[in-house]
Amino acid sequence: MPDVGGIEDMKKLIDKIRRVYRTYRSQQSMPLRLEFIVTDYCNLNCKGCSHYSPLAPKEFVSREDLKRSMDHLGRTCRDKVEDVYLIGGETLLYPDLIEAMKNMRNAFPTQRISIFTNGLIVDKMSDEFWQTARDHDVTIAMTRYPIKYDYDAAEELIRSKGVRLKVFADRTMKDTFFKLELDPDKKQNKYKSHFKCYSRGCVSVVDGYVYPCSIAACVKHLNRAKETNFEITDRDRIRIEDIKSARQIQKLSRHPIPFCSYCVMPPKTVGYGLSKREATEWVKE
Ligand code: SF4
Ligand code: SF4
Repeated sequence: MPDVGGIEDMKKLIDKIRRVYRTYRSQQSMPLRLEFIVTDYCNLNCKGCSHYSPLAPKEFVSREDLKRSMDHLGRTCRDKVEDVYLIGGETLLYPDLIEAMKNMRNAFPTQRISIFTNGLIVDKMSDEFWQTARDHDVTIAMTRYPIKYDYDAAEELIRSKGVRLKVFADRTMKDTFFKLELDPDKKQNKYKSHFKCYSRGCVSVVDGYVYPCSIAACVKHLNRAKETNFEITDRDRIRIEDIKSARQIQKLSRHPIPFCSYCVMPPKTVGYGLSKREATEWVKE
């Protein structure tokens, strides 16, 4: 008698390997999404924020550095880029936002451009801001946080300006906010963490470097505010001036980096809340 159970188990294993391989292949050919961080400072204060904004100082990237990064990545990678974002913190607080939109369109003429925002100050934006967003086909990507704020009015205002709007999340976010903890002992399996990572593919650009995720890009705020030592090495990021083609960024974002050994994956699903700026919001106890 053939071992039917054994053959079935083998078939299941082969199917599983095929599925994993197909997922891997599709990730290799996925277009890039670049997120240019303009500040990590924010006018909201969410517990477990993935940019460590509750701990971030009120600082903004320089307009020259931002333009240089956009120009270089536009020149070397734009064919493989589908989406580009201006992101914070709260992006609308960036004082050079109008110039940033123009420079971004110049560097990425055919890509989808979006500005991430929590929406809290859309009613404070100038006519010139709205005009520039319309002229350069910039989408406002607004996240609705579960706070006391009239998001319906904010949506109406954005639409009334004739600017594209994309809305993320809804009231269910109240119970499903992600909390990603870092393991100070760096004992996590980097392959497993990377495989389960929800941030994979969100390439962050800041401080003259490209990072595969906002966690590695922004952990400096946690290190500074809480005297932790989550180390960034040369293998966790690439200097923008060293980038010759999109393949380097694809390789960085689609394979584990040493920093992945800090990440406890999958992230915990927690209720939304305001930050008390305690290290335990981000660090594994
Ligand atoms: S609104 Fe976004 S960037 Fe600001 S603290 Fe909340 S999660 Fe962080
Ligand atoms: S360091 Fe690795 S596992 Fe952690 S968030 Fe970034 S890509 Fe994901």
